[in-house]
Amino acid sequence: MLPLTDTYQRKFYYLRLSITDVCNFRCTYCLPNGYQRNKDRASFLSVNELERVAKAFGQLGTTKIRLTGGEPSMRRDFSDIIAAIHQQPTIKQIAMTTNGYRLAKEASHWRAAGLGAVNVSLDSLDARQFHQITGQNKFSDVMAGIDACLEAGFPMVKINVVLMKHITQQLAAFLAWIKHRPLQLRFIELMETGEGSDYFAQHHLSGENLRRQLLQQGWQLAQREPDAGPAQIFTHPDYQGQIGLIMPYDKNFCDSCNRLRVSAVGKLHLCLFGEQGIELRDLLQSEAQQASLQARIQSSLVQKKQTHFLHQGITGMASSLSYIGG
Ligand code: SAM
Repeated sequence: MLPLTDTYQRKFYYLRLSITDVCNFRCTYCLPNGYQRNKDRASFLSVNELERVAKAFGQLGTTKIRLTGGEPSMRRDFSDIIAAIHQQPTIKQIAMTTNGYRLAKEASHWRAAGLGAVNVSLDSLDARQFHQITGQNKFSDVMAGIDACLEAGFPMVKINVVLMKHITQQLAAFLAWIKHRPLQLRFIELMETGEGSDYFAQHHLSGENLRRQLLQQGWQLAQREPDAGPAQIFTHPDYQGQIGLIMPYDKNFCDSCNRLRVSAVGKLHLCLFGEQGIELRDLLQSEAQQASLQARIQSSLVQKKQTHFLHQGITGMASSLSYIGG
């Protein structure tokens, strides 16, 4: 099966599948006022609907699915979702992005259900600052969750850190933390969303400086796998951990795009920024619709634009990443 390919010859091996918009954290850069329930929105995709999404994408060459949200572990049927997607023989890797609050209890169960990789968001190594950023006093629970992932046998746990100005003072502590731990620290440049333009102006820090510092300190850029995420990965002979740098404002960022997104209510998003989404849910109601579903996904790809235009200040439809599965 050929992978999904767009007009710019980019191939899509990787699906980010949002399973809920709900989040229990109130991160200052994402949902500063907490999750706001919209009583008009449709219900989130059921396990059966999610399984059909996974099947269709799997048949179209997708090998990796990341479960995200909102906070994916807010779904009480999260283990069932993992297990259903794990049934799809073409999906080689199921990953999740989480704020980590349920990991300490659940990491081993989710691994047993078929979860292959975990990204945990952690924006500070200081418990008080963590509380300020997330609105939740759960630093030690999240740290215990990261340890639980390592104990459960996840080979390399990835830690998402939004690159903001305060990180400069914490860089040494973050590097010391990964010296003897199999953790990949992923610094994500803060993205400007519809709701966060003042915040962006105050906190945004370019990844370019960090890249220069890393290279000066002997970190080396590694080669990229076809279904890898958007990060540039750096390794260092003295460190067990790795560093990933995600720079969405880099002018070539979109050239290596290999990702599509499906929202928690079943819309296909060809890019994190700038479009309304293509309805898939009407074709998720029975197995007999698989061929039509796959045809719609395939034909939608001609609409994928060459770039997100983020560097031109276009923040598009995303009022917060949480609502379309950041
Ligand atoms: N709730 C989960 C979590 O906390 O990881 C998954 C959803 S969250 C939207 C996914 C990732 O997007 C997190 O690592 C978060 O830090 C990042 N994120 C959210 N808003 C962002 C922004 N404006 N710029 C950069 N990263 C952002």
